[in-house]
Amino acid sequence: MSHSNSYEFLLKDISTLKRVGQKTKKILKKKKIETLFDVLLHLPQAFVDRSKLININELEIGKICTIKVQVIKYNIPRIRNLPNTVKCEDSTGEINIVFFNSREGYIKKILPLNEWVIISGKVNFYNKKYQITNPAYVVSLEKEDFVKKIIPRYSLTEGITEKVYRNIIEQVLKKLPFFPEWHNENIMKKFDNKNWRESILHLHDPKNKQDFQSDYYRRLVYDEILSSLIVLSQIRKKIKKIKKKPKKFGNRLSKKIINNFNFQLTRNQIEIITEINRDLFSQSKMFRLLQGDVGSGKTIVALIAAANVIESGYQVAFMAPTEILVNQHYTLANKIFKESKIKTNFLTGKTSNSERKIKINALKENKINIIFGTHALFQKKTQFGNLGLIIIDEQHKFGVKQRMELSKKGGENCDILVMSATPIPRTLIMTFYGDMDVSKLTEKPSYRKEIISLSKPESKIEEVIKFIKKEITNKNQIFWVCPLIDESKKLDYEAAVKKFEYLNKIFTGRVGLIHGSLKNEEKEAVLKNFLYKKIQILVSTTVIEVGIDFPNANVIVIENSNKFGLSQLHQLRGRVGRSNMQATCILLYKKNLSENAKKRINILKSTNDGFKIADEDMKLRGFGDILGYKQSGIKDFKLADPIHHEKLFKLAEIDIKEIENKEQSLKKYEPLIKLYDKAEIINQIDS
Ligand code: ADP
Ligand code: MG
Repeated sequence: MSHSNSYEFLLKDISTLKRVGQKTKKILKKKKIETLFDVLLHLPQAFVDRSKLININELEIGKICTIKVQVIKYNIPRIRNLPNTVKCEDSTGEINIVFFNSREGYIKKILPLNEWVIISGKVNFYNKKYQITNPAYVVSLEKEDFVKKIIPRYSLTEGITEKVYRNIIEQVLKKLPFFPEWHNENIMKKFDNKNWRESILHLHDPKNKQDFQSDYYRRLVYDEILSSLIVLSQIRKKIKKIKKKPKKFGNRLSKKIINNFNFQLTRNQIEIITEINRDLFSQSKMFRLLQGDVGSGKTIVALIAAANVIESGYQVAFMAPTEILVNQHYTLANKIFKESKIKTNFLTGKTSNSERKIKINALKENKINIIFGTHALFQKKTQFGNLGLIIIDEQHKFGVKQRMELSKKGGENCDILVMSATPIPRTLIMTFYGDMDVSKLTEKPSYRKEIISLSKPESKIEEVIKFIKKEITNKNQIFWVCPLIDESKKLDYEAAVKKFEYLNKIFTGRVGLIHGSLKNEEKEAVLKNFLYKKIQILVSTTVIEVGIDFPNANVIVIENSNKFGLSQLHQLRGRVGRSNMQATCILLYKKNLSENAKKRINILKSTNDGFKIADEDMKLRGFGDILGYKQSGIKDFKLADPIHHEKLFKLAEIDIKEIENKEQSLKKYEPLIKLYDKAEIINQIDS
């Protein structure tokens, strides 16, 4: 097992190992252990010292101990649910070995009467006697050496014992292949030249203290990070290779549109428009992400790009996740394109069949310049006469694979611009978007006032009501968010209904309610009522449709604000403050805020910068929970953690650029890419 292709063996299913049946397989799957490689990356969390045999009179309660004792007496109660007990002793004292859920036959087999045995397990004290409950090991004296060891401890799910798992990992470690090194020399120096194989062996070896700072560990982390970046870089390279016809325009249309704005574009907006124009003029396909907080002016930038593409004779498709957002973009476009001859249209799931046919025909015949729509836009039947740009709003709902499918849509001459309002911590931008060029809108339009954020205990709800009364008199609108408290949707729903009833008693007829179990049309109906000011307060369970503009809503009340993460709170807060009125965010909490919750609230009060907040959020919560991460389509990291390994992420960004610049062959990274299961993604772009 030492030739260089042997990584394929590591991709085998664990059930190819001895003594791994369907049951074990199922249990390990819960821990995301499915292949032999997964077993190797599931590193021990600590080590247990079972190496010393001690006497019963030396036992320490609460510790894992190993003893050599003689079996004296069985106590097998005939009543169900009572444990079976076996009394054992050595020359210094007595101990009870207690078994829950083990059959009598089994117990008598492993603990034969009057025999001497080795037992290892955690010691407790019950009824004035030492006892070990469900011991980890019971073996005969000949097998003493199997137990009397320092044993790696793995975090495992219920249903699988240390002993069984040790057997599994040992089977894999025995066959560990040798690989030629894939990393460059300068990188290897950072890890004291530890290679992959010795790193794995070292970290599973009980003789070594577990050290997450060691070169062995960091090397494995680096493997994981770089494998991600290589894949994205490959995708990016392939997209860049696609040659397109450069767009030709003289900014005639866009200038006219910009002149008609009753505001000045920010410097940041102008920079990004220039970047996008460069992409449009170029021979390679644009694949660009436009990142920026809600309300930072992304849509305006996208529509200016659209105007340029239209001027050069192409069509534009603008996709948004919901009907309401489509309407909103469509309305905005009609407003700003009013004095041009740009022909706008829209298409959603609600468009009737007969209308759809007409629109699809018009698209094919190039009679529509820009069309707004939901996913319905890209059905098989839709054909564009001359599509030149796809714009997609609220990108965080797409993963890598979906992005690639998208890049193929529209053909070679079609540029792609995606907009996302989900701020990503700096450390992770490459890991998420390494396949794209990224533009960041960090400067806010100047008219925007900072949102005032305050926190209040729920006991002071009367004060909040007073404040709201005043706001309503001033013709402002209010969001009232009741978050998911329990996993159970039902409870969540009840809390919102209760709050709705409470508020409706005070503000009768002026309150609406949306929650998860409403049908889409019902939801949209309530949202429309709010948008057109038929109601003044909107109570909702969790997320109010990302990205919709309710310029008249200036107050958001967030209940149980301590249950939300920072990024989520920031996104919710972004629902308000979209006009020149002063906006307020009120964070309600039940008494006794945790330290962490206090920190979150203080950070929110201190800044409105989504990127800063994303960084802080990751520090407070760990990256697994960051908003949108789970949908990203990038496999969870097993070892890498952007907080603890920030330096390694940075190193990988430099490394990948070097690999790209030198156009270094990726052949040597092949095992790495295969092991991390990324090959499939790369191949997809070829098909
Ligand atoms: P986003 O798409 O990032 O949420 P939008 O492009 O929809 O933001 O802009 C939000 C609001 O701000 C819109 O009403 C838009 O007309 C306005 N706006 C955009 N850029 C500016 C600017 N530079 N100055 C003033 N208002 C702006
Ligand atoms: Mg928007």
